[in-house]
Amino acid sequence: MLTDGFGRKIDYLRLSVTDRCNLRCVYCLPERYTHFSPAGEILSDEEVLKLLSCFAELGISKVRITGGEPLVRQGIAGLIQRVSKIAGIADISLSTNGTLLAKMVHELAQAGLKRVNVSLDSLRSERFAQITRFGKLAAISEGIESALQAGLSPVKLNCVIARGMNDEEIGDFVKLTEGRPLHVRLIELMPMGETGFFSKERWVPLQEIMEKAAPIEPLPVEAWPFGRGPARYYRRPGAKGTVGFISALSCGFCSSCNRVRLTAKGTLVPCLDASEGVDLRTPLRGGASRKDIQQLILSAVRKKPARHHMLERALGAGRNSRYMCQVGG
Ligand code: SAM
Repeated sequence: MLTDGFGRKIDYLRLSVTDRCNLRCVYCLPERYTHFSPAGEILSDEEVLKLLSCFAELGISKVRITGGEPLVRQGIAGLIQRVSKIAGIADISLSTNGTLLAKMVHELAQAGLKRVNVSLDSLRSERFAQITRFGKLAAISEGIESALQAGLSPVKLNCVIARGMNDEEIGDFVKLTEGRPLHVRLIELMPMGETGFFSKERWVPLQEIMEKAAPIEPLPVEAWPFGRGPARYYRRPGAKGTVGFISALSCGFCSSCNRVRLTAKGTLVPCLDASEGVDLRTPLRGGASRKDIQQLILSAVRKKPARHHMLERALGAGRNSRYMCQVGG
């Protein structure tokens, strides 16, 4: 079992397979962001598999494929299939912006993907295009439909809420859960990267998000959709889906954090908020043994901080210099 210095059991790895994205959501990346890594710096499939088998032996059993936008990586379905065969990996999930999902969903399901999270920050086409800068709402809706039809379950929809961006759509997001098994997660905006977007004014605290989501009732943990994470789930009375709340700022979830992140360049980052990580790619490419790599993983996990410091930053004490796509959001 993998445990950190505070006794938290770490069994979940968020694996970024690319730092590239085909969208530029206003809160996530600057419009003209060009600092994507050259291909040679990104872990190859073989390198990903080698590292994952080291993680799995240490006790990681759940892997979420993320990015950047993971579906822009060449051969992603093949990689997912190979990850699903690693001994000890019991659960693979995917976070996507949904742009390529309709095209790829059958291939992904055949590769062993069981469930998916799709980002969806507006239900209004024009606004959706403004938030994502390139996105077409119709393509994402088609992606969500195709995921339901392909039998992926649960299908979760991640909605980042920001004042003046989409906060008056909270009721509409929750409505999506009424007639279909869709699991909407309302996410507090976080101060990540130098996007110039985050501000105290744009941050909608959890309490306010919950008030706007009403009427909702708390769900017993047994009824929560599959996939342990930081969300706390509720339901609109009689709805088929659920409403989750993810609040990094108002109500930290660090004490129960079970995750670490591996960036597309092979750096193990122990906390979303960490400014540094442990480079696994250089030793891997230098011929380090599995034991050496596992020692590095253990030492990085032991250094996982007790908690993040986003609230302090949100209240004005500087900004995180990392973008979500660099950490593996
Ligand atoms: N491209 C994939 C996607 O859209 O899900 C995976 C990567 S994306 C960085 C992962 C999640 O991070 C998305 O749901 C996105 O909305 C969220 N995200 C990015 N920047 C954020 C921020 N500043 N605050 C809150 N969530 C953020």
